[in-house]
Amino acid sequence: MRVDLVLENGRFFTGDARMPTTAAVAVLGNRIVARGEDALALETAERIDLRGRAVLPGFNDVHSHSVWFGTTLMEIDLSHVRALDELYAAIEQGIRQRANPNPDEWIVASGYNPALLQWQVPDRDVLDRVCGGRPLWIKFSSGHACQLNGVALARIGVRDRVDSQPEGGRIVTDETGRATGVLEEQAMSLVRDELLPAPIATIDRALELATAKYAEQGLTSVTDAGVAAGWIGNAPGELEGYQRALERGALRTRMQVMPEIGTLGLLPGHADEPARRGLSGGLRTGWGDDRLQLGPVKVFTDGSILGRTAAIEEEYENCPGNHGYLQEDADTLRSKVLEAYAGGWSLALHAVGDSALDLALDIIEEGIGRFGRRAVPNRVEHGVVVRPDQIERLARLQVVCVVQSSFIPAFGASVAGALGEKRVGWSIRARTLLDAGLPLPLSSDRPVTAGLPLAGIQAYVERITEEGGAYNESERLSVDEAVHCATVGSAEATGQQHRKGRLIEGQLADMVVLEEHPAEVPVSDIHAIPVLATLLGGAFTHRTEQI
Ligand SMILES: [Zn+2]
Repeated sequence: MRVDLVLENGRFFTGDARMPTTAAVAVLGNRIVARGEDALALETAERIDLRGRAVLPGFNDVHSHSVWFGTTLMEIDLSHVRALDELYAAIEQGIRQRANPNPDEWIVASGYNPALLQWQVPDRDVLDRVCGGRPLWIKFSSGHACQLNGVALARIGVRDRVDSQPEGGRIVTDETGRATGVLEEQAMSLVRDELLPAPIATIDRALELATAKYAEQGLTSVTDAGVAAGWIGNAPGELEGYQRALERGALRTRMQVMPEIGTLGLLPGHADEPARRGLSGGLRTGWGDDRLQLGPVKVFTDGSILGRTAAIEEEYENCPGNHGYLQEDADTLRSKVLEAYAGGWSLALHAVGDSALDLALDIIEEGIGRFGRRAVPNRVEHGVVVRPDQIERLARLQVVCVVQSSFIPAFGASVAGALGEKRVGWSIRARTLLDAGLPLPLSSDRPVTAGLPLAGIQAYVERITEEGGAYNESERLSVDEAVHCATVGSAEATGQQHRKGRLIEGQLADMVVLEEHPAEVPVSDIHAIPVLATLLGGAFTHRTEQI
């Protein structure tokens, strides 16, 4: 057999118990066909000497937002802002750099994390001055709130005195009752309705920028956790944007894409059959292969811990009576989601608080009981607070709890402040989930956190907050376990373990070449390991001069 590529003299960490390490791998087409001596013996079109570098299966982030992340790369970046003056200055500078000729055009900034400013609210009047009369939209990094200036509020029809509130959201007011410019949850649709759908060119460019960044960081597979509808969608035809990106070679990672449930409409069926929901969001011929495929349907049941909008059983710390809220009435959610399940979809239910998780598990349990299990696992997104009694239920239903270790270094101390000590012990779990026999993937919720997969691995092991304190240390993983999550665990969580996650014959030749294996450096340095190359199906999507 003549193969396309032999990578030799590497230190391949295969994730395969029968041959945990090997020095060579042979690739034919887009798959691994031989390892070790067998690979070296083959005739090949190309041979690359890796000079002892560590090679792992390509990283897989199962909850990221690619279009959203890609658009942030085109907007004013506020991710480093830690004081109001810095925020005003960054926006002023961003406007100057853009030299935007149209005085009516919206200024958009993103990456803003109010936790870093102790939740001080920027002054909408100062923002008006800074923007010289242009409307301003600041997207919070959480995605669950945003801030406008006064010009923008007027543009979307929000008066200074707020007389009515939208369902499932809030137009925030100050002590005098004046709108501050902050819009929470469903209230964000007011600005989104004004500015979206995004132009096709924006979606194209966003996917190109996002997946180029993924490749540089060693990612070969990413799941986009919600597109084409709801507050997370950028345009109703977003799914088709992915297909277009693939066709013109601009998609540098394999993508599993979750349509938001708003893309699904009722599908008429036989009178004896249950009501079903199916896709009307831009699906067309050619969907679904190794490079691009439909994932589960994404459904938001609640909000975020930091916004105090996640639904929790016991009130938030120091917020008497505040239990957060569901994004929709529980019965409406239940029937809609079960219709999607009846239509054959796997479920990805955003459930951050334990009350939201109760509802999510009730729905999934009912769905399994009535319509059976799914090949692609059902999942809950974030599962930040998982009470001890909920672990057994997750395990029994085999629901993947898609936690983000990266939340800990980004805003773990703020989460702890909102939850209080007892619930911190139940939160951002990892060890307990593994011990319960559940697949545990790696995910970042990028751009909610920066998203570097090596940093996510480090956070699984280290669990140190933005303030330097330890966070629920009992849930720590070993480095090898965290690497397993980023590769095998993610493949299992997305129902792809037969195709990827390990460097074995028959699997996709998706690999990341690192200067060193994460277990070979101090834990605090894992994030800084240079990513020397990334291969997708045996072809380089990222390659430095060292390879
Ligand atoms: Zn998300």
